[in-house]
Amino acid sequence: ASTASSNFLRHIIERDLLQGRYRGRRWAGSPGDGTHHEQGGPDPAKVRMRFPPEPNGYLHVGHAKSIWLNFSLAQEFGGVCHMRFDDTNPEKEEQEYVDAILDAVKWLGWSWDAHGTRHLYYASDYFDFMYRAAEYLIETGHAYVDEQTPEQMRANRGTLTEPGIDSPYRHRPAEESLARFREMRAGRFPDGAMVLRAKIDMASPNINLRDPAIYRIKHATHHNTGDTWCIYPMYTFAHPIEDALENITHSICTLEFEDQRPFYDWLLERIVPILRAPQFERAQQLIERIEQQGVEAGKEFALHCHNHAHKLGPNTEPERRMRALFTKWEHDREAVLRDLPRFFELLKTQTHQFTPLLAAALEAYQIEPFNLPHQYEFARLNLTYVVTSKRKLKQLVDEGIVSGWDDPRMPTIVGLRRRGYTPEAIRLFCERTGVSKAGGWIDYSSLEIALRDDLEGKAPRAMAVLDPVPLKLTNWADVFGSADHREPCTAPAHPQRPELGQRQFSLGPEIWIEREDFMEQPPKGYFRLFPGNKVRLKYGYVIECTGCEKDANGQVTAVLATVVPDTKSGTPGADTVKVKGTITWVGAHEAVPAEVRLYDRLFADAQPDAGGKDFKAALNPNSLTVVRAYVEPSLANARAEERFQFERHGYFCADRHDHTPARLVFNRITGLKDSWGK
Ligand code: ATP
Ligand code: MG
Ligand code: MG
Repeated sequence: ASTASSNFLRHIIERDLLQGRYRGRRWAGSPGDGTHHEQGGPDPAKVRMRFPPEPNGYLHVGHAKSIWLNFSLAQEFGGVCHMRFDDTNPEKEEQEYVDAILDAVKWLGWSWDAHGTRHLYYASDYFDFMYRAAEYLIETGHAYVDEQTPEQMRANRGTLTEPGIDSPYRHRPAEESLARFREMRAGRFPDGAMVLRAKIDMASPNINLRDPAIYRIKHATHHNTGDTWCIYPMYTFAHPIEDALENITHSICTLEFEDQRPFYDWLLERIVPILRAPQFERAQQLIERIEQQGVEAGKEFALHCHNHAHKLGPNTEPERRMRALFTKWEHDREAVLRDLPRFFELLKTQTHQFTPLLAAALEAYQIEPFNLPHQYEFARLNLTYVVTSKRKLKQLVDEGIVSGWDDPRMPTIVGLRRRGYTPEAIRLFCERTGVSKAGGWIDYSSLEIALRDDLEGKAPRAMAVLDPVPLKLTNWADVFGSADHREPCTAPAHPQRPELGQRQFSLGPEIWIEREDFMEQPPKGYFRLFPGNKVRLKYGYVIECTGCEKDANGQVTAVLATVVPDTKSGTPGADTVKVKGTITWVGAHEAVPAEVRLYDRLFADAQPDAGGKDFKAALNPNSLTVVRAYVEPSLANARAEERFQFERHGYFCADRHDHTPARLVFNRITGLKDSWGK
């Protein structure tokens, strides 16, 4: 197992923090009236991540990776991770999925409450703003309504080697586009009649920049906004806006979106004035104040800067720079006003040392340092023997190939949970597989290894016989004086954790053993039961096999053996008889019947959907075997979702839904050893 966990994103955030990019301060009081003062330490909420699923299905193990990445980075840097539903596509989204997604994130151990605020957001809550942004783009000449047919648009898009062709609607006046766009919104046109497109560059080598569609007509009811809208933003348009409105600092997505990054940046740069409208107003007020009051207000500002410069130490360089800035504001106010945010950006990138000072001064005037979110991409998680696509998983559910989204064979989070995986194991798996730019496949066994590493120290032990055959101890009454005698046995609940206590059970004249633990004619090297051989019953006595009973077909119906007196485990006589084999068992008089579900990989092909293959053709027909087992009496008290190590068999979990005290149902999570290589 690889334990390397490099994470290039962590380094990016560290770098940004070192450069002072997101370090804000908490302030109390009002600027300028003497009550303004710094409060507490730096505002920790400045690193903001988000996990933005679309509520169109249940989350899978790939999402678990993304959840871990975003929430753990925010936690590590004392920031916040927003839980956001990217619900801009009305047709496939449902409340059921919203609820299930929130449940899954919580179960994985994360919270979107931070610093006293609930950070739960819905992209659909921003539809009004998105619409305004679209109108703003039209007004500023950066978008137009295109009435070409979808076929014409596709044909005019060009290819990788050939540039696209301008739409005849590309150069229509802004007023005309605006009027059309308002008609689109009013519901005057059917789906697909026209779209709003960004006006960028039809000859761009990046096809995503060839005037991408940003709004389309869709007469559909939305799970959140109902029938308020009949036009909906495209994902690529909506997502950067969501990030910017929530002041996200690092917007992490998977590599498929790398080619979208130029559009992400293009869009945000163009809508800065409306994104920052409130800040803009304050900046404008500040400058007006300086204009009106002339030198006095300027002095006040400079003094403020001065005070902060002083805080930076005896070095007067920052102070000098602050004065220089002030002078520039005086001389070139118009330019500064027009492009204030970009001016801040410029200052921040060009003058490191100066940045904290500027940030402090701007905050003193309640003008947040201006940070647009940045998109970063990492390689998605591909896990062998499963598919990680909500669409394909939904197909398995809809076609009844699995019992539901939470079928224990499913790589969904609810499936992994029901199978018996722990949040800690999933987290360990995410940490170990690391974060990189290079794609690849992670072997399913990594997940199982993480589970074993987590449960080894935690899971209580128990004995269970999964393929039972009776064994009769024919000398029982002679040795113990009565057929009704029961020999009490104890075993530690966990071999390394005495504090977990002891399990109690007992031995009687008839027990259940595994069918494979007896062979009439054993091959060489077989140390378990065969006529004439002795083995130890774990935590019990040494027994000697004397033969077996069979039915008419030659099938063994009972194994026969005798107890060797005075050999009980934990007594002085235990070592007097040496044996090479020890077997597990449960007493027939107290065994509890249980249904045990033995799961195998869902697909027989390691990469079921690679290269566009038909993934359903790769289904493993033997992915589930149900057996009738006998388990030791302590397991009668098992609670749903409780996990155990069944000695020699592996890790098992009481089924979350089907297990009851009256009907025990256990799922095999994984075996004790890695058997995937077989
Ligand atoms: P799917 O195709 O299964 O629907 P998606 O990416 O469309 O996946 P979203 O709901 O948009 O699903 O995903 C939410 C977040 O989870 C996104 O940021 C996405 O990048 C991330 N994510 C999805 N699948 C994986 C994966 N296999 N590995 C890592 N991150 C993933
Ligand atoms: Mg998506
Ligand atoms: Mg998807």
